[in-house]
Amino acid sequence: MNEVLVSAQDVSRTYRVGGADVVALAAASCEITAQARIALVGPSGSGKSTLLQILGGIDVPSAGTVRWPALGGIATLRPKNVAFVFQNQSLLAPLSVIENVELPLLLQGEPQDDARAAAAQVLELLDLAELAEKLPEELSGGQAQRVAFARALAAHPPLILADEPTGQLDQLTADRLFDAVLPALAGFKTALLIATHDPHVAARMAQQWKIEHGVLAVQP
Ligand code: ADP
Ligand code: MG
Repeated sequence: MNEVLVSAQDVSRTYRVGGADVVALAAASCEITAQARIALVGPSGSGKSTLLQILGGIDVPSAGTVRWPALGGIATLRPKNVAFVFQNQSLLAPLSVIENVELPLLLQGEPQDDARAAAAQVLELLDLAELAEKLPEELSGGQAQRVAFARALAAHPPLILADEPTGQLDQLTADRLFDAVLPALAGFKTALLIATHDPHVAARMAQQWKIEHGVLAVQP
């Protein structure tokens, strides 16, 4: 099954900085199909975050087109269809772990009981049930990122975009995170695009995209 979730055609993004144009993304074309596992690899400043934000509809291109054939329009992307995981401190500090995880479901109008049950299920799946009542400040870095993935998975979105989610983790912790996250993604039939400059993390994904100076090279 090759259902196309996101399709970008000749997408460019230029920032105006102090009277000069900075090209963050230069005519990038790519496609994410259902259940894909893609690593987006490139050095700092190469355009990874810019591409993720455009593919997730947080930012709009300066030129080119982005479409979400299987997900509807840009207005219906988040949180139901596309979820983000960021590098650090994306959990809301005053809310417990389970409150953080159920938040996307409450935002999309699910009844409290259903949201709580779905959040508890995802926590169980990621081996986080014992941390449900903890506050983010009580978590280790690895636990916090696992909760961030749990929150992203709570609404069972077809696509998760993760922006250097293991940037602050050691290799063993990163490995354990993916040991838990990858089967959970498979269970919900969720695709993952992960920006990383860690070759070890990248190697766990089926597809490798490379980006340098805003130029994207996509391998089929
Ligand atoms: P990466 O995530 O790979 O580190 P980014 O997508 O954040 O790269 O940035 C790509 C380029 O765009 C860099 O040169 C960066 O300085 C520039 N850039 C990113 N965001 C902005 C912004 N809001 N304003 C100006 N320049 C930006
Ligand atoms: Mg970045």
